[in-house]
Amino acid sequence: MEQAVLSVGPTVSALAGIREESALGNHARADLEARVVALTRLHDLAMALAGPHDLQTALDAILSIAVEFHGAAQGLLYLVDEQTGTLRVRAKTQMAVFDDTVDPRSETFSSLANTAGFRSTHNTLILNRSGETVGVLSLQFRDPHEREPQQFQIAEMCARHAASAVEVIGAREASREMDRRSREILNSLPVAVYATDAAGRLTDYNEAAARLWGRHPEIGKDRWCGSAVMYWPDGSSLPIDQCPMAMAIQQKRVLPAMEAVVERPDGTRRDILAHPRPLFDAAGNMVGAINVLVDITEDKHSRRAMSESEERLRKLVDLMPAAVYTCDQHGRLTLFNRSAIELWGREPQLNDLATDFSGDACTLNEGETFRQAEGMVERPDGSRSIVSTNIDPFYDSSGHIGAIHVVQDITRLKRIEGDLRQSRNSEQARRAELETLMLTAPAAIFITSDPQCRHITGNPAACALLRAQPGDNLSKTSEDGGQPPEWTAFYNGEALPVEDLPMRMAGRTGKPTSYQELEFRFPDGTSTWVYGNAAPVLDETGAVRAVIATFVDITELKSASRNLAESEQRFRNMADYSPVMVRVRDTRGQCLYVNQLWREFTGQTLEQSLGLGWLSAVHPEERAMVQEAFHRSASARAHFRLEYRIRRHDGQWRWALDAAGPRFSSDGEFLGYVGSIIDITERREMEESLRQANADLQEFTYAAAHDLQEPLRNMVIYGELLADSLGRLEGDPQRFLSFTLEGAKRMQTLVADLLTYTHLSNNQLEQSDVDTGKVVAEVVQSLQPLIEESKAVIDTGSLPVVRGHETRLSQLFSNLITNAIRYRRPEAAPHIQVSCERAEAEWSFAVRDNGIGINPAYHQQIFGVFKRLHGRSISGTGIGLAICRRVVEQHGGRIWVTSAGEGHGSTFHFTLPMRESSP
Ligand code: ADP
Repeated sequence: MEQAVLSVGPTVSALAGIREESALGNHARADLEARVVALTRLHDLAMALAGPHDLQTALDAILSIAVEFHGAAQGLLYLVDEQTGTLRVRAKTQMAVFDDTVDPRSETFSSLANTAGFRSTHNTLILNRSGETVGVLSLQFRDPHEREPQQFQIAEMCARHAASAVEVIGAREASREMDRRSREILNSLPVAVYATDAAGRLTDYNEAAARLWGRHPEIGKDRWCGSAVMYWPDGSSLPIDQCPMAMAIQQKRVLPAMEAVVERPDGTRRDILAHPRPLFDAAGNMVGAINVLVDITEDKHSRRAMSESEERLRKLVDLMPAAVYTCDQHGRLTLFNRSAIELWGREPQLNDLATDFSGDACTLNEGETFRQAEGMVERPDGSRSIVSTNIDPFYDSSGHIGAIHVVQDITRLKRIEGDLRQSRNSEQARRAELETLMLTAPAAIFITSDPQCRHITGNPAACALLRAQPGDNLSKTSEDGGQPPEWTAFYNGEALPVEDLPMRMAGRTGKPTSYQELEFRFPDGTSTWVYGNAAPVLDETGAVRAVIATFVDITELKSASRNLAESEQRFRNMADYSPVMVRVRDTRGQCLYVNQLWREFTGQTLEQSLGLGWLSAVHPEERAMVQEAFHRSASARAHFRLEYRIRRHDGQWRWALDAAGPRFSSDGEFLGYVGSIIDITERREMEESLRQANADLQEFTYAAAHDLQEPLRNMVIYGELLADSLGRLEGDPQRFLSFTLEGAKRMQTLVADLLTYTHLSNNQLEQSDVDTGKVVAEVVQSLQPLIEESKAVIDTGSLPVVRGHETRLSQLFSNLITNAIRYRRPEAAPHIQVSCERAEAEWSFAVRDNGIGINPAYHQQIFGVFKRLHGRSISGTGIGLAICRRVVEQHGGRIWVTSAGEGHGSTFHFTLPMRESSP
């Protein structure tokens, strides 16, 4: 503005000079005056431009000065529009008559003015200080107007003033406009901005700052900040003179963005990020500071919330039972959870290629997804898992595609699926089997799903058993309105109450129920016997949810077992009344049965006989042999035949013939033996005596051939000698005859003794009580002549009464005593002792002499027929002792001799069984 005024000053001085030079003439004076007025007005105007005038007022004033001074009909003032570059009329003295939308560049003004009725136009360019045209001052005249160029000095001055006005007032207005716009911008900023002077006093702030602080601080009074209470981000108190702005001003430097908390008067707090910056003038002096506060409360909250949610998400992902991992567009790992490590059996590094260890890894094309893709993962230890994978694409912040993999280990699921499929298959198979079983089972099967058994179904066998139609309700307590079945169940001969029927019992008690023999009686009087079993089916709580029963028809079995029992009884009767002992043994020889006769014969009870008890009746010497023979036969399944001794009830050992045949079950299984035992003692004795007789006969035949020939030969020899001597009458016929007679007598004795002997072997003894003392006394009496002749002494001890044949016993004693006298020593008179003593169950007799004795080599031989040790010196037939042996044996005894040798005497011993004397 100063400049504008200064530029007007010289013009006024120049005009004053003109006034002095042209002080001649009135016209000139008037003109000069007009000029002065115009200049004065211009000057006033120039002065006024420094005031609050606006540009329009100034331009109007300038134009009116130019029009007035030059007496123009009209004046127009154009300015170049900055926007369009065209001239626009900014001021005019009267209504323009041309269309100002047409671009009226200065060269066309004249023609335009002409057409509007103006005869001349004077245009003055308005030039700024740089000489650029900023407008045109146009004056129009109605008459042709010829003037000197200097006459338009006022117009040019007006144009210069207009240029000044445009410059000064325009700049001022532009500055004001800028101020207004700046404030508008400042207030519309979303961030809080405030400024202070160098002392920190607030000089300006925007609305955002006032909102942040919750108040409008007083300009020039509040210091450092619009908020009086501040905190550090950690919540500790922040003195206001240490706030970021205060620090920046105190340190006179730009500080990095700092976080703090401001508290509003209402107590609410906001998190801020302060950017304080001191301001310096051109000389480098600090003139103030500006601070930009960014409200980061929401940001912080959302960041905290975000990090919390991210933490939660990470935890969630980690805890997920499925393996989760992400890959970038190259298939490199960017994240994985714990389950993924477990699945892979190793912990990979981030950026490892997922395909290296995860069978399901893949990269994705845009928008592609995979759902439940199945694959296999093999771990470093060789173990494998079947996995199901879902893969989805995602885009990172840079827009790159990645893949998120969710992998489920479905190995167990697969196995369970397999098991399930298998179990479903086997369940189907079982169901089919069960149905077939139900249809074909010969047993009656009943099923109910009602614990009270009001509706019972059964398989064909069940319907047949209860004489019902297929599909009938077999329950006796049916509530479906049907006719209840007409059978009645009996147990142990008594009608069974309905509630005690097996299924009802099982349903009620929850325990299996079984009836060994249950009888179903039907109205026609017939019966079916069953063996019945019912069992509850429990649910998982232990409650009965169904009952199943199985009945087996045992009617035939029952009659068969009745038949069997009868047949068994028949067998027992038969066996018990059998005249032989009967014994049934198993494969190991254990007795299963003995008949009555065995028990009577052995005196064993049935219990004593069973098992191996029967063996105790076998003679101890033969038990092992009997056992051995049994096992040999049993292993060959062969017939068994053995003779051994068993003890009769009276203690006597009896010979028995055990004959048994193997027995087999109906299906050929070897079961053991059934056999009979008969007492063969008598038979054996007979056999023995027969054998003895045979042996004797053989011996006799031999002896007879020898011994009987001897006297016959003598008789023949002497008979021939006698015949010869009778013919020739020489020799001694008398002597020959006596020899012949002697042979005949000897033959007679031999034949007599033989007769006695053979008689003994044939006849059965008739036994009676025999007083042996008496017998011996009689024998001694009968031998009196011999005793006297030999001067024998005979001592007889006390002798018992025995059971026997008196005549034979008499012969026995006679033979022994005779021999004792006959075979005496010549030098000693015979001394004979007859004695007897008791030895266990027998009598032991002895006849002792002091005779010639017997060489032990002949102790056996002498009991044979015709066995003699002495020649003719002592006459004898050699049959005496043979007769003795036979008599003793016929009485059940034994005979033998003892002697210390020749010359030492002999003792003949024999035994007789001790027997109960008959009444
Ligand atoms: P015998 O007496 O007729 O010859 P025995 O049969 O009676 O036939 O006797 C057979 C033999 O036994 C006799 O020849 C005799 O040698 C011998 N003998 C029998 N008794 C006695 C005895 N008491 N002392 C010695 N020897 C005897």
